[in-house]
Amino acid sequence: MAIMSLVKERFSCIIEIHMAYDKSQKKKKSENISDWYNDIVVRADLADYSPVKGCMVIKPYGYGIWELLQAAMDPLIKEKGVRNGYFPIFIPISLLNKEKSHVEGFSPELAIVTHGGGEELSEPLAVRPTSETIMYEMYKKWVQSWRDLPLLINQWNNVVRWEKRTYLFLRTTEFLWQEGHTAHATHEEAWDFVLWAANMYRGIYRDYFAIPGFVGKKSESEKFAGAVTTLSFEAMMPDGKALQNCTSHDLGQNFSKAFDISFQNKDSKKEYVWQTSWGFSTRSIGALVLAHGDDKGLRLPPKLAPIQVIILPVQPDDSKQLTRSNELATELSSAGIRAEVDGREDETLGFRINKWEVKGVPIRVEVGPKEIESGSYLLVRRDTFEKFNSKNITKDVSKALASIQSNLLAQAEENLKKLTSEINNFKEFEEIMRTKKGFIRAFWCEDKACEESIKGKTKAGTRCLLLDEKEEKGKCVYCGNEAKHKWIFAQAY
Ligand SMILES: [Zn+2]
Repeated sequence: MAIMSLVKERFSCIIEIHMAYDKSQKKKKSENISDWYNDIVVRADLADYSPVKGCMVIKPYGYGIWELLQAAMDPLIKEKGVRNGYFPIFIPISLLNKEKSHVEGFSPELAIVTHGGGEELSEPLAVRPTSETIMYEMYKKWVQSWRDLPLLINQWNNVVRWEKRTYLFLRTTEFLWQEGHTAHATHEEAWDFVLWAANMYRGIYRDYFAIPGFVGKKSESEKFAGAVTTLSFEAMMPDGKALQNCTSHDLGQNFSKAFDISFQNKDSKKEYVWQTSWGFSTRSIGALVLAHGDDKGLRLPPKLAPIQVIILPVQPDDSKQLTRSNELATELSSAGIRAEVDGREDETLGFRINKWEVKGVPIRVEVGPKEIESGSYLLVRRDTFEKFNSKNITKDVSKALASIQSNLLAQAEENLKKLTSEINNFKEFEEIMRTKKGFIRAFWCEDKACEESIKGKTKAGTRCLLLDEKEEKGKCVYCGNEAKHKWIFAQAY
């Protein structure tokens, strides 16, 4: 016994030393992107691991990014005539079972509630993995005549999909998103919505996240369970892996027939509605971290940065410096710039600089004795570490913020270009997937078994068929059979 406890004591001591050592070692993005990612998400205060395995806690700094995204996207959704509502988190199993391919697709990742109020439920309830079924049971009631259409509802909520391997933001058992669900009298009108949502997402990614990418159609095996067609936005991360960020589905009449959502048309004949659903999730924050971060930490695009400017008095215990810092923050705030002062006296200037670099705040302003005297302040850009002095701080900060936003997009565009290859033979395909990875554009026969073989050999699956891809005559890059289109392939997160 004595020996055992001695071993345990020794062992725990070794673990502690190791952990302390580990903490002091900064992870480098350029060396191991996945270790770097896990480390930086926690160190930058975006999120933390929770006591529930696979679920994360989004901390205020991370949630601030989500709020800015909501503030940008919600008006666009409303402009299109869609209104926000809210539906229950619990879905009776019988509802999920109504659309066969939908329930088959989601069954493996369902969380099921069997007891409530101390009693076994007469019917188990699934915690929503997505809300098609619970919403459409209501749509059936609400749609009677052509006058009730289109029915356009969005909800901002959480969903649960039981995941075995999880990654903060990128893959968690519970995540936040918006899900839009529309019902229309004609397929054309529904398809217009599917395209609108996909393009709206692409615009948000480009203009706010500074992340370019491809919008295209998913293959039969990759489309949403229950959809006729799924469009997705695919972005390329710096390590050569693709990240699917949001999807927009043409549900056809699959759900309206299963749920009997029908209406009397103008000729008093019964018709089933045409439906769409589209979602954008907190996964996007993971994309933001991966796309723009560097060895020092995050680099947030100004439009999504909860704090755009951090003002640091060099000596916070100097009342002149602290007062001037607060005045500058007020001046910037009144111009609509999100600015804060960090005047912690127990932290050195170097420590505070490092802290805000990790958090990716786009601009740092330093206020020291020199600055007080000259009225010219030191500005430092987080994206380039470029330093300059400014006497007209509001004007120069505004200009620098716009420049950082476009610089990050330009860098991501460069990365996308560098990591997109057009090829004709499978040897080259394998070689690229062994080395730089990225997107490959190549002819594919659209056969499921062929798709699986390619994935088995290279870990790269089909990502999408570009929306504007024209029909051509070609040979499948893998099996050599006839192919009509070039598809986009990549390994994925
Ligand atoms: Zn093939």
